[in-house]
Amino acid sequence: MEKELLKELNESFKNKNLQEAFDALIELKLGKMAFSTSFGQEDQVLTDFIFRSDYPITIFTLDTGRLFEETYEVYHRTVNKYDKLIEPYFPDAKKVEALLAKKGPNSFYSSVENRKECCGIRKIDPLQKALRGVDLWITGLRGGQSHFRENFDLFQYDTSFGLIKFNPLVYWSLEEVTAYLEQYNVPQNSLHKKNYPSIGCAPCTRPVEQGEDIRSGRWWWENSKKECGLHQQD
Ligand code: SF4
Repeated sequence: MEKELLKELNESFKNKNLQEAFDALIELKLGKMAFSTSFGQEDQVLTDFIFRSDYPITIFTLDTGRLFEETYEVYHRTVNKYDKLIEPYFPDAKKVEALLAKKGPNSFYSSVENRKECCGIRKIDPLQKALRGVDLWITGLRGGQSHFRENFDLFQYDTSFGLIKFNPLVYWSLEEVTAYLEQYNVPQNSLHKKNYPSIGCAPCTRPVEQGEDIRSGRWWWENSKKECGLHQQD
């Protein structure tokens, strides 16, 4: 059933531009829709588009408590520019306290298990809370962001959260993203100009070299697929 629905959705949306895709999405009345932003370039395109079009879509963000100062800056500039709400979700304070009491503030550097434990507390648990009651999850995922993401589709079933996910920018190029941001004068994270194409938590993100994979600056000390577990699908 899910597979049939996804196939139909992907087929009928494949040639739509952003405006047509969102208009059609609203028509479908799929229930409560929420867009998750971490204020990266693709996310800023969608935030601008959703806010300017006044679509009935909730925008939320996960504040892990370890973000860059520059990320709070673009967060601040964004809510001021559009005068709209972005719902913040924080990790459970008791879980963070217990983790730090047991393993210290930077346990993520010592093993993949420890890193996943931190991502679980600071990202996955809050995401679970944010997605409670949501019927469709909208993301700024783009196929060109990494090898892992290059086979993503417009609509996908997310196995971790049991939700259909809509990735409207999945086929966009980076050039299209930056052209959009310039055209609409959208606030951007100043770290992008310092060779941070993908920005997560401050201690787990570093700049990339010319020609390196966009997500190679994330958890650079690991030989992993550079995903924190937020996006799992069939
Ligand atoms: S990215 Fe790093 S600091 Fe952020 S939640 Fe994951 S392990 Fe923790």
